[in-house]
Amino acid sequence: MTEWSEFLPDEAATVAAGELIGGAMAQVKGLITVHLQGDLGAGKTTLTRGVLRHFGHSGAVKSPTYTLVEVYQLPERDLYHFDLYRLGEPEELEYMGIRDYFATDSISLIEWPSRGEGVLPAPDVIATLKVQDGGRIVKLEASSDRGAALIARLPEHP
Ligand code: ADP
Ligand code: MG
Repeated sequence: MTEWSEFLPDEAATVAAGELIGGAMAQVKGLITVHLQGDLGAGKTTLTRGVLRHFGHSGAVKSPTYTLVEVYQLPERDLYHFDLYRLGEPEELEYMGIRDYFATDSISLIEWPSRGEGVLPAPDVIATLKVQDGGRIVKLEASSDRGAALIARLPEHP
């Protein structure tokens, strides 16, 4: 399975989908990079909150719109939540020391990855969120073997 999608009728469903994705991530070793695609308000940060919840983070999840990245040192892995909406140019990521973020057995979830094109590593999974019928549609597509392994660990009919 290299694709997975689900209709999310409300915010709680987006968080629940994020928890499922977190559960699949936990079963895949090594660096995992997820690109989060979708308009402002599509639910990218909400989905990330669900992933964090799976890994035991129950505190607040700030949108890193101004800080560009929020770091979560979780018991199992480090998780980096990027929001590159306000990134001027991809090279600014180099000044932030971005290489170090992708050097370990960590998870990165990246909103607005197109802003960092050329500097960001290739994604394992591309997650796309879209507004539909008052809720959202989430779709995951694998773009590496590791991404395919992750998607294969998601339930077919949650
Ligand atoms: P983004 O990070 O893509 O800009 P957010 O995650 O901040 O979007 O979510 C924007 C709004 O969408 C929030 O108010 C959130 O509650 C709402 N939302 C998230 N998922 C859903 C859903 N499945 N149905 C309806 N509203 C949702
Ligand atoms: Mg956001």
